[in-house]
Amino acid sequence: MSGADMAKPLLGHGSMESDPSVTPAAGRTIGVLGSGDFARSLAIRLVCSGFKVVVGSRNPKRKAGLFPSAAEVTLQAEAVKKTDIIFVAVFREHYSTLCHLADVLVGKILVDVSNNTEINHHKESNAEYLASLFPACTVVKGFNVVSAWMLQSGARDGNKQVLICSNNQEAKRTVAEIAQVMGFTPVDMGCMSSACEIENIPLRLLPAWKIPIFLALGLFLCFFTYNLIRQVIHPYVREQKNKLYKIPIEVVNTTLPCVAYVMLSLVYLPGVLAACSQLYYGTKYRRFPDWLDQWLQHRKQIGLLSFFCAALHAVYSFCLPMRRSHRYQLIEAAVKQAVEKKMNIWVEEEVWRMEIYLSVGIIALGLLSLLAITSLPSIANSLNWREFSFVQSTLGFVALVISTLHTLTYGWSRAFDENQYKFYLPPTYTLTLLVPCTVILAKVIFSLPCIQHRLLRIRRGWEKGRYVKFVLPSATGEYSSGETSSNV
Ligand code: NAP
Repeated sequence: MSGADMAKPLLGHGSMESDPSVTPAAGRTIGVLGSGDFARSLAIRLVCSGFKVVVGSRNPKRKAGLFPSAAEVTLQAEAVKKTDIIFVAVFREHYSTLCHLADVLVGKILVDVSNNTEINHHKESNAEYLASLFPACTVVKGFNVVSAWMLQSGARDGNKQVLICSNNQEAKRTVAEIAQVMGFTPVDMGCMSSACEIENIPLRLLPAWKIPIFLALGLFLCFFTYNLIRQVIHPYVREQKNKLYKIPIEVVNTTLPCVAYVMLSLVYLPGVLAACSQLYYGTKYRRFPDWLDQWLQHRKQIGLLSFFCAALHAVYSFCLPMRRSHRYQLIEAAVKQAVEKKMNIWVEEEVWRMEIYLSVGIIALGLLSLLAITSLPSIANSLNWREFSFVQSTLGFVALVISTLHTLTYGWSRAFDENQYKFYLPPTYTLTLLVPCTVILAKVIFSLPCIQHRLLRIRRGWEKGRYVKFVLPSATGEYSSGETSSNV
């Protein structure tokens, strides 16, 4: 491989660096066909970025007032004649009405900004369709992932990426340069066959969130039913007491922390499983099963949903004393105390339990907020790898341990009280402890020097059954080197 080849990025899908040999794009005349929302926002942004803009409309007189005075609004054919780069801000259904411009469009670059209303709506992408109507033009797909609003508010307020594809490298580079001057980050998505994928992107509804949301809903449903049986159905069956009023707040509020806590442990469980797999097979080069791969990729969303449930739990808990039922219960307790002539109802152990329970709960929520904030792209991008991994991995694990303390102080000795076993069902908190405690135990085992050392070697490329030379930092930070063969 030559030095020049080595300098090229291996992956095509990356940010496009501007080529210094290309003439600066600013100052060029850019054409826009159409005078709708997108065309208007695009024209404003282009003018603000230093381009000359000529808008082609079927009715220029009526539409001219909608555009900035610096932009020229004229008939479609006139506009096309004045420029070599034309943004087609028209819906796909109306592309055929532009066919009368075919002669004046010869040799020009057409930028297809269109979107569809459904994923894979047509057999061919809109950009390929436009290219088939104008074979003498070069079509570039781009800017469709940017909304009219975002164009107007500037690239500061939102996603800065503009995905671009075309079969013509030169045309693609020109459009990328325009995007860059406008303050966007062009991303090269390769040739025209990627247009379909680019057109589907704005239509996808939370693609990375589906599995985590279903997981959270599934857990919520299970814990809600379990709590409903224990808190509402059990008193009704055993004592004919109507406790339905507990459903909107109490049952929901005992369900939310269960979901938050289990979800938080599910963020760290796949890492534990991955480490087990690496230790078992003695290599990091063996592919994880697909389900584990998917799980690892969804950890951020699972963590954010855990934070969401924890935040809701905090708000619900805050509102508990506001309930009418709570006030009645307090008055009832006070009257009972007066009737029984009890002066001191202070239970030292209960006071301490509640103080610790609330304090660790607040700390856990604080740490979860920190994890959520640092997972935002703008914040994550400002951290280096070590800082990010410290917050997400170390502080995240501390949050799991503190949440476990919160759960344990909530439960206290209730697990040993047989009255708590409604219909022989153990208290909910004992169930929630299962996965987090497994994760914590596994992490403690992995931190044992013999296992940690082996895991570290595997993650540095050592493989069981292969004779390799390795150099590893020792516990003191010094490097030790040696040769090893399998199973050492
Ligand atoms: P729009 O407001 O309805 O504007 C469409 C424009 O197309 C009209 O103003 C019209 O301008 C022109 N046009 C040309 N021939 C036409 C014909 N035969 N019939 C009707 N109109 C014709 O739509 P838009 O929201 O600006 O969207 C334009 C394109 O941008 C679409 O392909 C859309 O998918 C894409 N896009 C829009 C957004 C957005 O946020 N709006 C975001 C990404 C992509 P004249 O009357 O002046 O000729």
